[in-house]
Amino acid sequence: MKVLVVNAGSSSIKYQVFDMTNENVLAKGLVDRVGIPGTTLEHKPAGKDEVVIKRDLPDHTAGMKLVLEVLTNEEYGVIKSMDEIGAVGHRVVHGGENFAESVVIDDHVKKVIKDCFDIAPLHNPPNLMGIEACQALMPNVPHVAVFDTAFHQTMDPANFLYALPYEVYEKYHVRRYGFHGTSHYYVSHRAAEMLGKPYEECKIVTLHLGNGASMAAIKNGRVVDTSMGFTPLEGLVMGTRSGDIDPAIVFFLMEKLGMNTQEANNYFNKKCGMLGLSGVSNDLRDILEAAKSGNERAKIALEVYYNRVKGYIGNYIAKLNGCDCLVFTAGVGENGYDVRENICKDLDYLGIKIDPEKNKVRGKEVDVAAEDSKVRIFVIPTNEELVIARDTYRLAQGK
Ligand code: ADP
Repeated sequence: MKVLVVNAGSSSIKYQVFDMTNENVLAKGLVDRVGIPGTTLEHKPAGKDEVVIKRDLPDHTAGMKLVLEVLTNEEYGVIKSMDEIGAVGHRVVHGGENFAESVVIDDHVKKVIKDCFDIAPLHNPPNLMGIEACQALMPNVPHVAVFDTAFHQTMDPANFLYALPYEVYEKYHVRRYGFHGTSHYYVSHRAAEMLGKPYEECKIVTLHLGNGASMAAIKNGRVVDTSMGFTPLEGLVMGTRSGDIDPAIVFFLMEKLGMNTQEANNYFNKKCGMLGLSGVSNDLRDILEAAKSGNERAKIALEVYYNRVKGYIGNYIAKLNGCDCLVFTAGVGENGYDVRENICKDLDYLGIKIDPEKNKVRGKEVDVAAEDSKVRIFVIPTNEELVIARDTYRLAQGK
């Protein structure tokens, strides 16, 4: 069976086609600027050159139509007709407390995705648009939703509740949800394989360090805690998000900078983090470069970033009462070896010792811990699309 994986954002659609007989990726691509003048589709068929198509498209349905046109194109397509697609898997950011696993999409599932618009206003509406566009074009195949929040639903109330009046949890569902769940799920399972231990017996700390960043503590196959919270704003210092701050700063700055709630939301999500601190960029490569050339703000921004991650490592090792391995993944975690080295520096009390030579790798699955490190330190490239494809394939077969 061939499975199409779709990740629809507000103005973009990412896609991959998997042949599930061998899990090979037949093609992947991105439609950018959907609904904005200058729509571009970049399509990469396996083993062939990339194709770029520029055609203004009004909405996600038009975007998906173009994707299907490209996938069935005689020259650079990878399937003869749409009938070859046996199922479609959709990335959905928020499933609230309703889904601890992936599900076949029906009217009830769509209603729940809609009910979560309130708590995921930036992500769930375009995710649902993508689902409806695909269902209109492919009405006869199963569509599956794979939620970013699902894996973290194994957390206990002791870690997902905030110290707020209990009624706001009951009435407004204010609690820690956590995100990047599909990535934490994938890399933690790979880590157990690399440890040669049953997943259900491992203590793992995963570090998904991309532009958005989060960590998770996983014990015996269950998430104990994760750093993103009610929204992706909490936790680590990110490209443009502040991560943890004293909530009183929000009221203080709303008053000082004359921001309303929407402006404040935008400010803490888009203007803070490494961009705001360094004044250089949200891209960690630029900040590392600037720090090397002596930029003091870039240097201090990196120190704040490393310290926040170290704090979470300590927190999570305490909560797990031990740790078999740390796992670095996503853009920064997979490629930034200087970042990994700085994070792991001076953690030998916790049994964490990196080997600086082994650590000089990018984007490879490898153990970079020193021989005598009690805790293994893995670099594992994440593969959220493969998890979505596998779940979709399984559910499409009624398993
Ligand atoms: P997202 O999916 O959240 O947009 P990614 O996982 O693609 O993010 O990661 C993007 C980040 O990875 C960028 O901040 C980029 O600077 C960083 N990155 C990529 N390569 C390197 C590198 N060699 N060293 C440090 N950071 C890197």
